[in-house]
Amino acid sequence: MPESAPEAWLRVTPAGLYCEPGSFHIDPAEPVPRAVITHGHGDHARPRNGAALATPETIAIMRSRYGGDAGGTLQPLRYGESLGIDGVTLRLAPAGHVLGSAQIVLEYGGRRVVVSGDYKRRPDPTCLAFEPQRCDLFVTEATFALPVFRHPPDSREIDKLLHSVRLYPERCHLIGVYALGKCQRLLALLREAGYAEPVYLHRALLPLVELYRELGVDLGVVLPWSEAGREAFKGRIVLCPPAAIADRWSRRLPDPVLALASGWMAVKQRAKARGVELPLVISDHADWDELSATLDEVGAPEAWVTHGREEALVHHATQQGRRAHALSLIGFEEEEE
Ligand SMILES: [Zn+2]
Ligand SMILES: [Zn+2]
Repeated sequence: MPESAPEAWLRVTPAGLYCEPGSFHIDPAEPVPRAVITHGHGDHARPRNGAALATPETIAIMRSRYGGDAGGTLQPLRYGESLGIDGVTLRLAPAGHVLGSAQIVLEYGGRRVVVSGDYKRRPDPTCLAFEPQRCDLFVTEATFALPVFRHPPDSREIDKLLHSVRLYPERCHLIGVYALGKCQRLLALLREAGYAEPVYLHRALLPLVELYRELGVDLGVVLPWSEAGREAFKGRIVLCPPAAIADRWSRRLPDPVLALASGWMAVKQRAKARGVELPLVISDHADWDELSATLDEVGAPEAWVTHGREEALVHHATQQGRRAHALSLIGFEEEEE
């Protein structure tokens, strides 16, 4: 194996993907001396690394979530800026997943490797769009890597929601949204669709909405949900974490229409199992078409597939004449998204 071949300098360790010459892990599953973090979701950005490098937005998110435990040294690197680390050149490129999300672009020995982190290709008003990077090896996520996953246009899902809000003026719409990314994107999509009413938020969602606002993402008027005034929530939209839609507190809302915004809502049994009346298929991950189109665009002769349904994408890439295999990284849960 030539020294420059990616598998000679990038390998899977118990803590995660490790760049040998640069002595850093990418999205490590346990604390390490040096980490490079793709984005702020909990299974990628973990606390207490000796040093962590990420975009300034991801660092702000980590500080907000972990406080003093966010890491020893937190080093921001802006999109597009290059950094040399012991002979490895590192650069971050937008991944279009959540605010601050980055692909990690590594160059060593004349080869370029891109680690996608989580990504999507649809426009998202709350973060920069994914920028495809030509590379020799593409390490791709595979959350929705089955041909059955073809996410509908976001505008269709938002129309569905607003139609339901108009249809049931006596009821409240309670929507489960993941706190980082989905919550802010749903707010932004509602504003884009012309919905100007205040949106009420479960208190668990407030800190990151406030942080997005501080980082310059306008989300319109949001108010903390409070127990006062059941009547006040008729015809209103209330957002809460996904796990909270069926909690006791929701019974204090006027006859809520239970909704959940997630790519997983494409699976009818999942919506049913969670008691979701109004499934909204809004995903922060690439669907099957986006995954395969991205493989073409980056032009990599080799792909490593991780974080989800690896087999179908490995098979697809192999059929296209690429070398491909699944990377078994531990520590990644199926993203609630
Ligand atoms: Zn993520
Ligand atoms: Zn993830």
